Amino acid sequence: MFNLVIFGAPGSGKGTQSENLIQNYGLYHISTGDVLRDHIKRGTELGKIADAFISDGKLIPDDLMINILADVLDKNADATRNGVIFDGFPRTIEQAKALKTMLAERGTQVNAVIGLEVAEEELIDRLIKRGKDSGRSDDNLETIKKRLDVYHNQTSPLRDFYIAEGLYEAIHGSGTVEGIFADIRTAIDARR
Ligand code: ATP
Ligand code: MG
Repeated sequence: MFNLVIFGAPGSGKGTQSENLIQNYGLYHISTGDVLRDHIKRGTELGKIADAFISDGKLIPDDLMINILADVLDKNADATRNGVIFDGFPRTIEQAKALKTMLAERGTQVNAVIGLEVAEEELIDRLIKRGKDSGRSDDNLETIKKRLDVYHNQTSPLRDFYIAEGLYEAIHGSGTVEGIFADIRTAIDARR
């Protein structure tokens, strides 16, 4: 079992590189952003709560988010047997600690954290471009700026957390999708 966290600011390419990872390593992909957007689309109770936070560029509260993730893991116990790509989770230190406990309870652990590092101007540029056809309520300049602030304040401290755990692999996240993926492969294969 090989569990991977794909980590980085909004627009850093987590979703794009996850596609490559799924194909190459046969891991189960959990994107918390996709899980939440699916609830919004289906109009569930959770979707209504999530919509308000997402449209405002804020994080869903930790306790709620942690329960959602545990639920996804339990409902997909079979599919996750080879390992999981965690995309968009953890986003806070509290979530990272909860993930550690959750995986330990299931007899496993995080094996690597792939940190996609991209300059701020490029992130804004990519997200505005994506906003032209993503239909996402959070891909507009005002909300993008809020999301980047949230990233700097609440999420980026995880970099040091995972460096201290000996799990962090810094990946230069600009260039071609293939070139970036080649660097990711090298980092993962050294740990497998
Ligand atoms: P990328 O473009 O790199 O794929 P992203 O930040 O644009 O990343 P998502 O990961 O899809 O987008 O997240 C969208 C929104 O969903 C977040 O801004 C947040 O409101 C909510 N969200 C997703 N994951 C979490 C989480 N782990 N904790 C709290 N809120 C979350
Ligand atoms: Mg995403």
